Amino acid sequence: MATATIEEASGKLVIKNIGLLLSGDIDQPILQADTIVVVDGIITAVGRFKDLDTEGAKTTIDVQQTCVAPGLIDSHVHPVFGDWTPRQNQIGWIDSTMNGGVTSMISAGEVHLPGRPKDIVGLKALAITAQRAFSNFRPGGVKVIAGAPIIEKGMTEHDFAELASAGVTLLGEVGLGSVKAGYEAKEMVAWARKHGIQSTIHTGGPSIPGSGLIDKDVVLEADADVIGHINGGHTSLSEAHVCELCEKSSRAIEIVHNGNERVAIAAAKAALELKCPHRVILGTDGPAGSGVQPLGMLRMIALLSSLANIPAELVFCFATGNTARIRNLNCGLIEVGRAADFVFMDRAQETAGRTLLESVQLGDIPGIGMVMIDGLVRCHRSRNTPPATQVPVVVH
Ligand SMILES: [Zn+2]
Repeated sequence: MATATIEEASGKLVIKNIGLLLSGDIDQPILQADTIVVVDGIITAVGRFKDLDTEGAKTTIDVQQTCVAPGLIDSHVHPVFGDWTPRQNQIGWIDSTMNGGVTSMISAGEVHLPGRPKDIVGLKALAITAQRAFSNFRPGGVKVIAGAPIIEKGMTEHDFAELASAGVTLLGEVGLGSVKAGYEAKEMVAWARKHGIQSTIHTGGPSIPGSGLIDKDVVLEADADVIGHINGGHTSLSEAHVCELCEKSSRAIEIVHNGNERVAIAAAKAALELKCPHRVILGTDGPAGSGVQPLGMLRMIALLSSLANIPAELVFCFATGNTARIRNLNCGLIEVGRAADFVFMDRAQETAGRTLLESVQLGDIPGIGMVMIDGLVRCHRSRNTPPATQVPVVVH
């Protein structure tokens, strides 16, 4: 069974001989540094080995000239409880996703819970329970930020104040409940924001029988913090309407794996043309009808880099630093003070790309050699990715 809780501290950790350091920061995606020092799960120094205090490390990892990047953040998942999803009746999907480089995930609503309550007191109770449960239980060490209520007609500002004071920080996808009109969603999204709760809106056609269309006018009027799955989940709005959303809204542009791939490419290109690449964040929208995708985030990175022609080092920022900044997370960037959540990668064996970045730009996904969360090794060579050419070595 997956590791449930963090019970030990990393102590002093030195990660050296880094060949390529991806920062997660879209303004400077590659850092000229070969060493990271971590103390008790937090980055304390980044730079050249010769310039840093590396004495007395409890653990030293030699990266063998391969790549280190911030752990990937899946901006859109639908967890339920533990490491089980009833949608595909699968156990262990979060641990498996950690083997795909994901170290944090954000719930867009615990919508697959069998018998999910839709009355107001019930939906609040579920959100608070999910927030607590995933704070206490981390499958594979993955940080699951959950407890994302699906808003229903009849909620008042007091309900949002109560959720916020109970520790709820997110709304599930607006539009999956009975609130589907723009004016109603707008009022509740504003109440949520006032009380420090971030919102995401479902964009596009119905996902499964029972959900409905949310068109561009509703998305614009509701003004949620995140334009959830702007490329549909699965069924997308037209490309013209998606590009209009990118232009008229200033909110986050979330592109997902379980959406329309053609429109995913169009949305990413539109964001670059509008000179707002910092707004683009990535998710899987799994588990869903399409299943679970342990490599979904890596597949999105390869898709956008290869088919939208975006340098791979920028696309990694869509899946790390951009999301951390928009979601207010203390991870996703290689900088002092951030959580030591890392994915160690190399070009997959036998890829046509000569370097890791070139292989991704050619459409191949990288091989993962190690995943670390809070400075603790969570897996060595990934059981899910194609094999990395070189993998890090734990020196001691
Ligand atoms: Zn959705």
